[in-house]
Amino acid sequence: MKVIEHILKKKNPKDLMFSYEIVPPPRGRSISDIVEIVESLVPYRPAWIDVTSHSASAYYKEKADGTVERKIFKKRPGTIGICGVIQNRFKIDTVTHLLTQGFTKEETEDALIELNFLGIQNVLALRGDGLNYEKVISKNRSINPYASDLVLQIANINKGIYLEEISEARPYDFCIGVAGYPEKHFEAPNLKMDIKNLKTKVDNGANYIATQMFFDNKHYFNFVKMCRDEGITVPIVPGLKILSNPRQLSTIPSNFYINLPDELVESVNSDPKNIKSIGVEWALKQAEELLEFGVPTLHFYIMNDTSSVLQVVKKLSTK
Ligand code: FAD
Repeated sequence: MKVIEHILKKKNPKDLMFSYEIVPPPRGRSISDIVEIVESLVPYRPAWIDVTSHSASAYYKEKADGTVERKIFKKRPGTIGICGVIQNRFKIDTVTHLLTQGFTKEETEDALIELNFLGIQNVLALRGDGLNYEKVISKNRSINPYASDLVLQIANINKGIYLEEISEARPYDFCIGVAGYPEKHFEAPNLKMDIKNLKTKVDNGANYIATQMFFDNKHYFNFVKMCRDEGITVPIVPGLKILSNPRQLSTIPSNFYINLPDELVESVNSDPKNIKSIGVEWALKQAEELLEFGVPTLHFYIMNDTSSVLQVVKKLSTK
């Protein structure tokens, strides 16, 4: 089932619905890591589970003779396979993240064909965060510069338009999500311009928006208003992250270009050992206010530790 169908199926906008985002395990680990995470989420009725995608990156390794070797490697492969396992073993819908950076249009088309064969109907079309090496693109291959171009490619395949003309090509039926940034994407000159670029993604065929994490709901409320004023009518799924380590006071702002509210920072600084319960209480407050506002779903960024998220969804489910 498509994400947009899950959202539209909700009778009351204030009804509880949960969805989650997980990350593939690092190279060398096994699918059982993911199976364990999904098993722990099953009792809390995931409407869908997103699986992130990662491009390869360059790193440098010192050899025994003292020289340095440059290697290019993907730390977390396996996004499509993981989606296939979750969807076919657990019967939970998955959203496969697809990136423009590091992937040619031709590789993307092949990925879409694989997803279709696996019965996966949902993709989140993203640009990615920049490669730290130059991927050589051969002459007869092409790339999608922005996520809006990737959306167009997927919307085209939904109409049966492939990169090369194929006689009697079948149209696909992907539900397309795109990323939105309540506190602005770090490269955009301002939020207004960023939302104009977001509108292009929607005009090109996106069915819904999934937001970057935020810790102050006023950013989400303001973002929804600005999107609606710009003529964006698709659902806007709020992304929630639960603090679980005091180090995140600096890693989250530097990795995701977002602000943490004074009140939250002060409570962590005054009682860092209690971070897990501070994080859970904060997320609960955020979730309750968002539910009251009437959001499409509560979407939790899990990474690979479900303990805090399970506490939050358990408490919300028993209220
Ligand atoms: P775009 O929509 O292409 O926008 C990138 C920037 O370009 C923005 O500043 C935008 O305003 C600007 N822009 C857009 N179009 C134009 C134009 N035509 N001309 C000029 N400027 C333009 N990263 C991963 O690597 N893997 C993941 O799985 C992943 N999952 C994510 C999930 C969510 C919900 C979110 C919010 C982010 C995720 N990211 C992921 C991070 C994302 O890849 C980065 O934030 C990336 O820097 C931007 O991606 P985008 O799709 O928003 O890009």
